Formats: sequence, C-alpha cells, structure tokens
Amino acid sequence: MDPDCIFCKIVQGEIPATVVFKDQQVTAFRDLNPQAPLHVLVVPNRHVANTEALVPEDDALVGSLVRGARQVARQAGVAEGGYRLVFNTGADAGNTVPHLHLHVLGGRRLGWPPG
Ligand code: AMP
Ligand code: ZN
Repeated sequence: MDPDCIFCKIVQGEIPATVVFKDQQVTAFRDLNPQAPLHVLVVPNRHVANTEALVPEDDALVGSLVRGARQVARQAGVAEGGYRLVFNTGADAGNTVPHLHLHVLGGRRLGWPPG
C-alpha cells in the first residue's frame, strides 16, 4: 500500500470506484474516462508500479490479472465478440497512473494500430 497512490486507495475502498470484480489478488473497476462501452481496469491489490517492476515472484499475480480481465469480459458479455487487454508503461505509452493496471476494452470494433 502506497499512501499517495490513487489505485491503492481504490483497492482499500478509501476513494469511490465502481468495482466489478475482486478477489484476493486483484480488483477490477470501471475506468473514469471510458474509451469503449466496456472499459475496466484490473489492478493488483498490492502496489506494483508497472510492468518494469515485475519480478519472477509476480508471475502468479500477472496470471491473476489476465484471468481477472477475462472474467470481466465474460461477465460483460463481450468475450465472444472480442476484447483487448492493454498495459501502458511509461511516457510514450501515455501511462499516467503509476500502479500496474490492465485495461479491458470491448463492446465496439477497436482500431489497429492503436494511436
Ligand atoms: P494509463 O494511461 O494506462 O496510466 O491509464 C490510467 C487510467 O486510469 C486512465 O484511463 C484514467 O481514465 C483512469 N483513471 C484515473 N483515475 C481514475 C479513478 N479515480 N477511477 C477510475 N479510473 C481512473
Ligand atoms: Zn498503488
């Protein structure tokens, strides 16, 4: 828990968010500024900065993030039509919140390559 981290505060329930899935490892909540009909962020419950901070001991955590994201997509009814999972890392990717998060985007046809 990083006391200055907005996503740590959401995990702790200290600031409001629309949580759609939670287990012992991860929390999933709706993005405040959705870019698609389904736009959810899946975050580890403990503070990890970004993919650059991951170590081999985090492999199970990464699996939990991906399976949590898949669960969110299935729950929202977009799994069959398709969805996109994105980690943004660093300035060139437009990363703004320094707590690892997996974007789950779906519910419309998504362009490729992304902007
Ligand atoms: P990134 O560019 O990958 O760092 O994405 C950060 C995402 O967090 C953006 O899509 C924001 O809209 C989203 N975001 C920032 N603050 C909140 C919040 N309090 N609740 C939900 N989503 C947020
Ligand atoms: Zn954090």
